[in-house]
Amino acid sequence: MKKYDILNLNISTPCYFYDMDLLNKTLDSLQEAAKKHDYLVHYALKANYEEPIVKEIASRNLGADCVSGGEVDFAIKMGFEPSKIVYAGVGKTPLEIKRALQIDIACFNVESIEELDMIQQIAERMNKTATVALRINPDIDAHTHHYITTGLAETKFGISLPMFDLAVKKALELPNIKLAGLHFHIGSQITLADPYRLLSVKASELVAELKNKFQFTPEYINLGGGLGIDYDNPDNEPVADFSMLFDTVSQHLDIDSSIKVHFELGRSIVAQCGTLLASVIYVKNGVGKRFIIVDAGMNDLIRPALYEAHHKIENLTADLMRPGSPVQTYDVVGPICESSDCFDRDLTLPVTQSGDLIAIRSAGAYGSAMSSTYNMRQPASRYFFETKK
Ligand SMILES: *Cc1c(COP(=O)(O)O)cnc(C)c1O
Repeated sequence: MKKYDILNLNISTPCYFYDMDLLNKTLDSLQEAAKKHDYLVHYALKANYEEPIVKEIASRNLGADCVSGGEVDFAIKMGFEPSKIVYAGVGKTPLEIKRALQIDIACFNVESIEELDMIQQIAERMNKTATVALRINPDIDAHTHHYITTGLAETKFGISLPMFDLAVKKALELPNIKLAGLHFHIGSQITLADPYRLLSVKASELVAELKNKFQFTPEYINLGGGLGIDYDNPDNEPVADFSMLFDTVSQHLDIDSSIKVHFELGRSIVAQCGTLLASVIYVKNGVGKRFIIVDAGMNDLIRPALYEAHHKIENLTADLMRPGSPVQTYDVVGPICESSDCFDRDLTLPVTQSGDLIAIRSAGAYGSAMSSTYNMRQPASRYFFETKK
């Protein structure tokens, strides 16, 4: 990011700054790692909806993973082929289902038996066949924050294991439903191989069960997303470790080679290319505390307030213009009227002044996509920088 001569760009803050070179490098690395195993990757749109970013991803021949009718429409608009769009979500409405059937999306990732019935009814009325994968909740702990773990039995997602047989039987019987596969997504910000090993083993067992109990071989299985990134040291290895995920799966998945393997990645594709830039409004001296009050708030980036997420924070002005300056301890906070509007506490930074440019790193995923205008604030500006092309 510093390579763009950031202090001399004429940008207004707060803003989302996207390093498109890094996005391209990440996509190259993803495609190379997936190609090695012939895996198909869908981009989980909800991580970032910025048009230049989504268009670049669509141009790479990835599929799209949507979680609402709005996302399905947006994916089409951005250039994804309907035959590469999959659609998950526990609360698909009849209207959303109808629309997705009209545009012939590749697959509904079905999250309940009730939803199967609903899709059957609508498809029958439209005289269509709906291709579905059953989202199975494998009861695997992704060892991540409880708000972003989705594969435990107690979460609302997917069909739980005791209902697996019933759901499969039903999907095979319903006349306007074509069962094509199994789907899983166990959580987000997973940085260890072990949850993916457990998932691969479980998925293999379930595929074997389909064969033994139902004489059925799926076309594909979809192992979801969730690959984590390094929020603490974003410059250490800015491209996510896609090989860790794919190699782990390839090593532990034991299924017929005719069954294709799909993934749905969001965060690991877009997180590191985005930075939230803010200017320091005041450095406020409190009682036993110093606050850096910046012009970005939790409405621009809610992850720290929502999931106690940690983003690395840098003072770019001090780093570039005042090298070697002494350090101080600060809380970095926004202007919003909520105590949770805090980006970091007791953070050591170079002595900071009003007007300094602050970078809140790794904000490309679930940053702008989750932003709001709370407190009637203007949306942050967006800039997309690229050195080549
Ligand atoms: C959010 C989501 C993903 C992507 O998760 P990441 O952690 O961003 O990779 C994949 N699949 C489904 C069903 C999702 O809801």
